[in-house]
Amino acid sequence: MLCDLFDLKGRTALVTGGSRGLGKAMAKGFAEHGADVMICSRNEEELKVAAAEIGKGMEGSVEYRLCDMSRREDTDALAATALERFGTVDILINNAGVNIPQPIDEVKDETWDQVIEINLTSIMRLTRALVPAMKKQKWGRIVHISSVLGVGSKPARNAYSATKASLLGLAKASALDLGPFGITVNCIGPGPFLTDMPMSLLSDSEKDEFSRATALGRWGEPRELAGPALLLASEAGSYITGEMLLVDGGAFARAL
Ligand code: NDP
Repeated sequence: MLCDLFDLKGRTALVTGGSRGLGKAMAKGFAEHGADVMICSRNEEELKVAAAEIGKGMEGSVEYRLCDMSRREDTDALAATALERFGTVDILINNAGVNIPQPIDEVKDETWDQVIEINLTSIMRLTRALVPAMKKQKWGRIVHISSVLGVGSKPARNAYSATKASLLGLAKASALDLGPFGITVNCIGPGPFLTDMPMSLLSDSEKDEFSRATALGRWGEPRELAGPALLLASEAGSYITGEMLLVDGGAFARAL
């Protein structure tokens, strides 16, 4: 019998920021491959609808929890609830993130702290809390959702790019810590994907500019991130760790 390298039956997955956009698309991809999934965000109504949509017709369970990842007590409580519910979180997708652009000479301490907390510190805290159970079972998959703006940048993306670049350093160090326990840690660096985040930040001309910058000449659909996430979350990606997988429609193929 052929072994399905992408099969997630019996696996549990926690996707932060799974209520919409890329998180929801990845959570759906995992549910379609048999995983029990938990999603979280700050909006209960949106979570409820998303969990119902993701779980429709699936064998595994899809649950949601409210969590504001700018609040450390919320992040700690999310980890405790996920462990209580699942025993072990096999797959952790650190996806929730924010982008609050400010030029370097206008960066406000409050904004800086908020972006660092959500995009970086909460990810370290959640990972730290969930890793001991993964280590016990000697299997785990951790994926931080970074960005092409962690590799290059745009004007005013100071806090955002700093956090997204830091995620690769975090992934590399923890890949070394956790490799002996069968746990992989990677980043995905999405390019321009059609979600609320870029749509709310960019002007029409910037939106055109972004699609022209890719080799494919278009924005990505959130669904197109499900496959790359599945690769890194399943047996299929068992020998990939400490890496950044750019999913950018070929934006970085261009030299100039
Ligand atoms: P969306 O804005 O569509 O979704 C963001 C998700 O994160 C939502 O579920 C949101 O829910 C949640 N979230 C935001 N703040 C918090 C918080 N404080 N606590 C808990 N949850 C929170 O964004 P995308 O899907 O586009 O982005 C997902 C990830 O992908 C982000 O890390 C982003 O930086 C990254 N990315 C996106 C790109 C793109 O082009 N779309 C490109 C490169 C990277 P709620 O606000 O209700 O809490």
